[in-house]
Amino acid sequence: MSDPLGDRIAATIRAAGPMSVADYMSACLLDPDHGYYTTGDPFGRDGDFTTAPEVSQMFGELVAARLCSAWREQGRPLPASFAEMGPGRGTLMRDMLRTLRQLDPAFAQGADIIMIEASDRLAAQQKKTLSEMKAAVEWKRHLGELPTQPLFLVANELFDALPIRQYVKTPQGWRERVVALDDNGALTFAAGFGRPDETLLPPDAKDAPPGAIVELAPARAALMEEMAWRIARDGGTAILIDYGYATPSCGDTLQAIRRHAYSNVLAEPGKADLTAHVDFAALAAIARRHGLAVELAEQGEFLLRMGLLERAGRLGAGGDDRLRQRLAQDVERLAGPDQMGRLFKVLIVGSPALAGPDTH
Ligand code: SAH
Repeated sequence: MSDPLGDRIAATIRAAGPMSVADYMSACLLDPDHGYYTTGDPFGRDGDFTTAPEVSQMFGELVAARLCSAWREQGRPLPASFAEMGPGRGTLMRDMLRTLRQLDPAFAQGADIIMIEASDRLAAQQKKTLSEMKAAVEWKRHLGELPTQPLFLVANELFDALPIRQYVKTPQGWRERVVALDDNGALTFAAGFGRPDETLLPPDAKDAPPGAIVELAPARAALMEEMAWRIARDGGTAILIDYGYATPSCGDTLQAIRRHAYSNVLAEPGKADLTAHVDFAALAAIARRHGLAVELAEQGEFLLRMGLLERAGRLGAGGDDRLRQRLAQDVERLAGPDQMGRLFKVLIVGSPALAGPDTH
């Protein structure tokens, strides 16, 4: 089977030496010619995985309601950006926009609607999804291209796709885990020479046995820094939803998903989704350092608090039993403790400086 990205990664390793897990992840996900997000159609039942906005419109409706109340609490600032980063198919933005038009047309019409997407292919798909909304939407590649004004931002399953670094405990101490070649020229994990900043490691790293793995994510920290810095300067709120943990500890969470099943991380570069769990404590600490107000909840708790059951009840009221059954399944999928409800977390970081009385 031809494996152009695998061949190229192997050639790079032969020429330049083993690569970090972070570089391997970046190549697999965003390589311009063979990357997973640049060339594939990952989402939905026919794809490799289903995200919360693809499960049900209720997800986007409730996230939009929370974002709208943040805008109101901050004194309804305009101009402002209403942005989504890493929007996948564009489903979440479509659902949020529809909801905001009903909840608060002043926000829906007054805010600049901006999609931040690294993949041209997915940006094209997002344009198609949003065409029915007849809204003026702009596309950008980086957060840094956004105008200097309050930012109301949503990102679902973005941070898990940003590269992580891994370190493995060896008899000599922690060493960076790298992707190397074995005697047959196949990709394999190995211990490299790099060492982590040990002050950043979780408490249980101290007594970890040889072979233990620990993860750090400078690319995620850098993005969170940029979001928090902007919101601290210009005002706004970010709602960041992802799977991950609130208490950091040692462990290997790097995983490949293909056709709704786990696959080998090194087996099919560019053909499977590669992700790792998000360290929410690290992201929250960055936001706090910038003076932002921070809320962290499990997804199930957040959605139920925002009225998931009432919304499902209202959507089901006009329909038949089949519809009600489907809504009940969707509720379970989004909020059930052994489904997305506990593993997924919702981190909300917002500007406390602009918080004022609700003028509406
Ligand atoms: N939010 C969507 C898709 C999640 S998949 C959903 O919930 O269905 C991750 C998304 O982030 C994809 O759209 C991918 O192309 C995008 N992405 C990955 N890295 C990115 C980066 N550095 N900047 C912007 N978008 C990125």
